[in-house]
Amino acid sequence: MTSAKAAIHPRRVGDITVTVLSDGYLDATLQVVRNLPPDPEDLLRRHGGRVPPRISVNTFLVQSGGRTALIDTGSGDSMGPTLGQLPRGLAAVGVAPEAVDAILLTHMHPDHSNGLSDAAGRRLFPNAEVVLHESEIPHWFDDAAMARAIESQRIRYFGQARQQIAPYRRDRVREFRGGEVFPGVTAIPIPGHTPGHTAFLIASGNARLLVWGDTVHIPELQVPRPETTMMFDTDPDAAAKSRVRVFDMVVTENLPVAGMHLHFPGFARVTKGAGGFALAPEA
Ligand SMILES: [Zn+2]
Repeated sequence: MTSAKAAIHPRRVGDITVTVLSDGYLDATLQVVRNLPPDPEDLLRRHGGRVPPRISVNTFLVQSGGRTALIDTGSGDSMGPTLGQLPRGLAAVGVAPEAVDAILLTHMHPDHSNGLSDAAGRRLFPNAEVVLHESEIPHWFDDAAMARAIESQRIRYFGQARQQIAPYRRDRVREFRGGEVFPGVTAIPIPGHTPGHTAFLIASGNARLLVWGDTVHIPELQVPRPETTMMFDTDPDAAAKSRVRVFDMVVTENLPVAGMHLHFPGFARVTKGAGGFALAPEA
């Protein structure tokens, strides 16, 4: 039973169930980090991180009002054996890919959207609509932006985004600017990491949870030092501004958060003290 090893963890948000389904992890190098704080390895260790950093990749299943959505799809089979675990997690919670009504994408990057389609160009979620910000697809189909990108990102980012969305594009894509996009789920654009990068606020009764996408990639560095950016941010300055805006919002509103790259199971709270922002994983 491979499904016995699936890393999954359910959480209630009022009447809505949000279950983290791990897609796995990847070991990164600090060479992908920009605007690094001094002594980054020390900062990583002091906050309990590994050196070099290990990055969790999470997706979230949302069951609300009799409908089923998945926030992001993981990396499919495109990023090696430590990733691509989402199908196992789905099987473990007893949800067939055919039963997924909507895929809400925080953005299109290999570790978030390469699980949409297989190599033969077939939809892995045959009955789902893909729901994403209106700035996302135009960016990845922008030939001029593709030409400007560094070589390693032309195929892996632009090429694969085009390939992954193709089987859905004709009649199964719904684009938004913001607002409620699924029962109890509101889209909050937080551009910078990509032009259409979006957080999803899940609310039911008095309970709320913000799934903040890639607000941080390496929490040990980017929570205490929000100015730290990543080489694959489309607009690093805007990404850093969005990060601080999200931190301020979740502190002010005392909102629990869930992150694609927070360590599994990925639920936490942000606090702000004299030393800046800090992250407290949920018990
Ligand atoms: Zn990511």
